[in-house]
Amino acid sequence: MFYMKKHSILASGVSCLLLAGCGGSDSSSDVPVSIVSPNISGTPSLASVSTYQTTSMSKDIEECSKAFLTNNSCDLLLIKPLGFNKENVTIEQVQERLVVSHQWMADSFIEALEEINDQDLLNLFKPLNSIVISYDIRPSFYTTSTASMYIDPKYVWRSKSEWDSIHKQEDYRNGFQTEFQFDKAQRYVHETTNHYVSYSNTYTPLRNESRDASHIAPGLFRLLSHELAHANDFLQEHDLTQIPSNGYINDYIHSLKKLNNELIERDPLTSKLLDKAAKIAFRGDSMTNEIRQLTGEAAGDAFEADKAAAFYSYSSPAEDVAMLFEAYMMYKKYRALSDFAFVSIPQTENFSCNDWVIQWGQRSRLSDDGVQDRAVFIASGILGKSESAIRAELASLPADPEMLRAGQGWCSSQKIMNVNPESRAIVSAESMTGFSENTRYLEDLEN
Ligand SMILES: [Zn+2]
Repeated sequence: MFYMKKHSILASGVSCLLLAGCGGSDSSSDVPVSIVSPNISGTPSLASVSTYQTTSMSKDIEECSKAFLTNNSCDLLLIKPLGFNKENVTIEQVQERLVVSHQWMADSFIEALEEINDQDLLNLFKPLNSIVISYDIRPSFYTTSTASMYIDPKYVWRSKSEWDSIHKQEDYRNGFQTEFQFDKAQRYVHETTNHYVSYSNTYTPLRNESRDASHIAPGLFRLLSHELAHANDFLQEHDLTQIPSNGYINDYIHSLKKLNNELIERDPLTSKLLDKAAKIAFRGDSMTNEIRQLTGEAAGDAFEADKAAAFYSYSSPAEDVAMLFEAYMMYKKYRALSDFAFVSIPQTENFSCNDWVIQWGQRSRLSDDGVQDRAVFIASGILGKSESAIRAELASLPADPEMLRAGQGWCSSQKIMNVNPESRAIVSAESMTGFSENTRYLEDLEN
């Protein structure tokens, strides 16, 4: 996700912290500041972060990374994006701009970047001033205020002690999704095995207790592809090289034409219905009768006729760009196909995965000609490669999307072509006795 000019939300978040529970008669009004949540409506406190490495720039990097909390931006006299005037970005250059609340977060992040070993991905860090990983970041986001990326540490934990140091909090956007008749689900599966491509981000005793860089890499790669798409959409390479030596980075970015503006002019999404539904589901707009009555089947019909990579694409033009780009990157790197579905909401408290029933779903949305044309345009713009080079990388995609069978449970639908899907959790010998249900699928329902 991304933030741009969310000043009113940020301002209220900050004053809540200072007042220790604003909102009049709220029962938390006399709770001491120290135990108020460090993350309010997605805005982390970043109260205990510092740079991973100490250099002459450390103070400026750290101050820049926190500037959005006080509605400020970063002074171009003091700090410019890390890839300004650079041909290729190195891991060392990324490391210099890392700001963390716990050293292990940076250690694991760097190990995973080494494991990913992808120069195209590293070059996407060019427009960033800093990369922040803190125990209280959820969800991950990018903001133009600081030209920085903020990463939820659930993507990089390796052990129980690391997991325990993360502040657990539900994504605040989950509160927007009440009253819908359907839910949405998404996962990346390997094109020939049907296996999940990424490993679970949730610590589970016996089932998912420890991870190394090879387990962390695919899920982090997807997240980075998404957030870095935002960074490169807002500050494109040709604008990065023209960056002035004074003023604020936020003002400069605001003055620019964005890649998502170009996509809208050229090939916009057209479904007004899904546009309205997504603004309610992801941005907190008020529910309407029309959307309250919308079924997953009807949403699917509108979705199929349009050209988005996912439902989340409708939340803003920038998310449209990011969802197209991550689908392209996941196929190129891991031969991963995106399964996307509108599913029913279980009516029982003792649900399991197949209680989420497919109402409309497709595998490999990127195989749709309309979606692919838009993804090629975006990937070409972000990576600075020709459209024909991008198309060549997608040449082995299935010729068409494949429908997931309506009426089938979400986990059952993973198995196409008679290959057994693998859960991609780190299964220990003890868990083979099978006393805990694998809840890996719950992550497919997250934003
Ligand atoms: Zn996003």
